[in-house]
Amino acid sequence: MKINKNFLDLKDSYLFSTVAKKIKAYQEQNPGVEIYRLGIGDVTMPLVPAVIKAIHDATDEMAQKSTFRGYGPEQGYDFLREEIAKYYQRTKKVTLDMDEIFISDGAKSDLGNILDILDPSNKVLIPDPVYPAYVDTNVMAGRKIDTAEGNQSNSFKPMPDKNYKADIIYLCSPNNPTGAVYTHAELKAWVDYANECKALIIFDSAYEAFVGDPTLPRSIFEIEGARTCAIEFCSFSKTAGFTGTRCGYTVVPKELVFDNTKLNSLWNRRQCTKFNGVPYIIQKGAQAVFSEEGFKQIMENIAYYKENARIIHEGLEKKGIWHIGGINSPYIWLKCPNGMTSWEYFDHLLTKANVVGTPGAGFGNMGEGYFRLTAFGDREKTIEAVKRIIALS
Ligand code: PLP
Repeated sequence: MKINKNFLDLKDSYLFSTVAKKIKAYQEQNPGVEIYRLGIGDVTMPLVPAVIKAIHDATDEMAQKSTFRGYGPEQGYDFLREEIAKYYQRTKKVTLDMDEIFISDGAKSDLGNILDILDPSNKVLIPDPVYPAYVDTNVMAGRKIDTAEGNQSNSFKPMPDKNYKADIIYLCSPNNPTGAVYTHAELKAWVDYANECKALIIFDSAYEAFVGDPTLPRSIFEIEGARTCAIEFCSFSKTAGFTGTRCGYTVVPKELVFDNTKLNSLWNRRQCTKFNGVPYIIQKGAQAVFSEEGFKQIMENIAYYKENARIIHEGLEKKGIWHIGGINSPYIWLKCPNGMTSWEYFDHLLTKANVVGTPGAGFGNMGEGYFRLTAFGDREKTIEAVKRIIALS
């Protein structure tokens, strides 16, 4: 028996454990001190009432023989797929067939699972800095990874290099950790490049609901030509507080054909073999997100987080700290002042202001010297944290 040795090539993920250790050590040395957390990547608002009611009602259905449900469709129930299709039409003017939508237990699972249907020899292009799961899942599969560098001069939105040919391209917009959002023209350049190279774009739109600017795209399928080169991964986690409840969806257009094979059929085959669907109760909760009151309620929560983001943005602006994000995204990405490294700035904020954020170096080499703040915290604490950052020399 041999293990998959590719796992031994994974870099240890020290980021959040080191953050937690540093906070614990500081609190032990300074008992009773209040810590202001602007590093949380998880939501803090509870599920909205419409979702809770739907989950309760579905639980009651499961308690009656006449309404009990066992295995559901591997692709998800039609009642939820229909709502997602209507949502795309209404908010993005994108028409999807119901069987292009696959309900998942979250974007992270499918972002990893999709590699099952793609050959290990593919050349992968991943932006840096970015959500670390893209790199790790490809390392596990033994793929060669090239990076598309984000930096201040491209506003952390790397663009295609015509001299380089990728097979698989990852894009995340709005981006974690930078909060950067690609414009239509920028995404069009990626779509044209992918179609030219015959590459596949893995598009992560987990934060699409935070885009308020109507001129910015919220789905890769708003871009002409994307149906022949992209798969989109989306989630109810940040949109509707499902981080612990687990539900998302993956859109695989029928026009996606590689090696004379439809990726939609391949993915369907993969799902039917390895996945038995998301619980009925959870899918009923997700369906309620699209009801009139459910949608209003989730948008109120998003508005709360976005106001936190605005407060952080305004504070950094006043202080003259270079930053992006925070307007159409829950993340704010800043340049560490006075040439500090991202861990130096972490220690500085923790010990001098009792504020915690996330060092940019944890998201890739290009994140060194930068820092991520998040808007998922409590309003009062966010206001206090920003005051403390501003007061620092
Ligand atoms: N994609 C990005 C960019 C994320 O930041 C996250 C979570 O933080 C995910 C995907 C995971 O989403 P889910 O909770 O649906 O698995």
